[in-house]
Amino acid sequence: MTQRTLSIIKPDAVQRNLQGAILKMIQDSGMKIVAMKMLQLSKDEARGFYAVHQDKPFFDSLTDYMSSGPIVVSILEGENCIEKYRDIMGATNPQNAQEGTIRKAYALDIEKNSVHGSDAPDTAEAEMAYFFSRMEMVG
Ligand code: UDP
Ligand code: MG
Repeated sequence: MTQRTLSIIKPDAVQRNLQGAILKMIQDSGMKIVAMKMLQLSKDEARGFYAVHQDKPFFDSLTDYMSSGPIVVSILEGENCIEKYRDIMGATNPQNAQEGTIRKAYALDIEKNSVHGSDAPDTAEAEMAYFFSRMEMVG
């Protein structure tokens, strides 16, 4: 099934100039980029994006970090791409991430883990709509 998912290259990775390297890993896997932009979230926008985690102990630190610098947000399209991109990202904690994954290669720690990917069709829809209008989805 062809799906779409939301990808974020997080502040730690943009700050280290890793956008190109990470997008290459995404593109080499065959997924197509159908929307993309660079922006910086406000603290409130980061809180809104991660609202599902608002009761977690890491929420305040996470939203500080996610609003600390520019991010690159994109929509990826491909066969089974929600799960496929999660596989390419690797585990949330880079210490548990498999060789060859983005987080294994680039994540700094469990918080500054370089990339985000939607985890299911309903969250993918909500997250794509959080960042992009229909007009910006060009694929
Ligand atoms: N996070 C954190 N501490 C934790 C778990 C998660 O700082 O103990 C951060 C991390 O940046 C992670 C994000 O919160 O990517 C969202 O957590 P989630 O469990 O949804 O992980 P993901 O879906 O990004 O793998
Ligand atoms: Mg998640």
